[in-house]
Amino acid sequence: MTETPAGSSSGRPRLTRLSRSVAGRRVLVTGAGSGIGRATAHLFADEGAMVAVTDVDGDRAEAVVAEIVAVGGAATAWELDVADGAAVDRVVSEATEAMGGLDVLVNNAGIPAGAAIDDPAYAESWGRALDVMLTGMTRTIRAAMEHLRASEAGRIVNVSSTEGVGGSPSSSPYTAAKHGVVGLTRALAVELGESGITVNAVGPGPIETGMTAAIPDEAKRKFARRRVPVRRYAEPEEVAHGILHLALPASSYVTGHLLMVDGGMTVKNN
Ligand code: NAP
Repeated sequence: MTETPAGSSSGRPRLTRLSRSVAGRRVLVTGAGSGIGRATAHLFADEGAMVAVTDVDGDRAEAVVAEIVAVGGAATAWELDVADGAAVDRVVSEATEAMGGLDVLVNNAGIPAGAAIDDPAYAESWGRALDVMLTGMTRTIRAAMEHLRASEAGRIVNVSSTEGVGGSPSSSPYTAAKHGVVGLTRALAVELGESGITVNAVGPGPIETGMTAAIPDEAKRKFARRRVPVRRYAEPEEVAHGILHLALPASSYVTGHLLMVDGGMTVKNN
């Protein structure tokens, strides 16, 4: 985790001993078969980390691992449904053993769970949203705890949303789950502060992924022009870089933070 204060090329002493690299870190990402999770797995592997690529769709996890390995990265694939508690315990344990430990847990798996409050399918949507996007995080975190405690720089990064700080019509199951992610993140940051494990969240705005693929391009352009100061949807890699930042050993004093990666959407008044 530490770097030798060998001095910079200018001859000045280094200002920090904290590592700004995830090389050699052991990372597990949920929902990594697509979108933000896939981009995160790629980015960490590009930076020299070992990545356990997990997804509810095992074939998709395998495909992402094949992409990573083809460019010289280190990754293993695991089929994992975060709604299945027994599977979470087993896969976190086996993936950790395969990597020789666990330093970073990225809770990313998500589903587009919307329903109006008087929709007959509301209860189902609510139950599924909370189970996958909030309770699922507690399952992976609990399964990972002993391993993260053994790490010299344990990091948990949870994926929330702009729906974690605001709301949209017919989206209360999703919105409640994403608000819950922020609460979970803050409470665990406080609870685990002394352990050295940091717990943070990212709040993506509109991102070009499987989750938004069905929205017509013109509707995306209109939304971005009206609501997003940066005036476009983001690429999943842009969220992955936010996650990487929070996972660095050097981010050791950043905990309980919600890093919005939303092109300024949540601070825009006019
Ligand atoms: P995505 O491309 O659909 O990726 C989500 C991945 O999670 C998919 O591979 C999905 O598999 C998987 N998944 C679904 N249920 C799962 C389960 N029970 N266990 C394990 N994996 C599961 O969407 P994304 O946009 O990258 O979403 C990643 C995260 O970003 C989510 O938490 C989402 O809420 C959040 N987010 C996205 C946006 C956006 O605009 N895209 C904005 C804010 C926040 P299936 O495809 O088979 O369901």
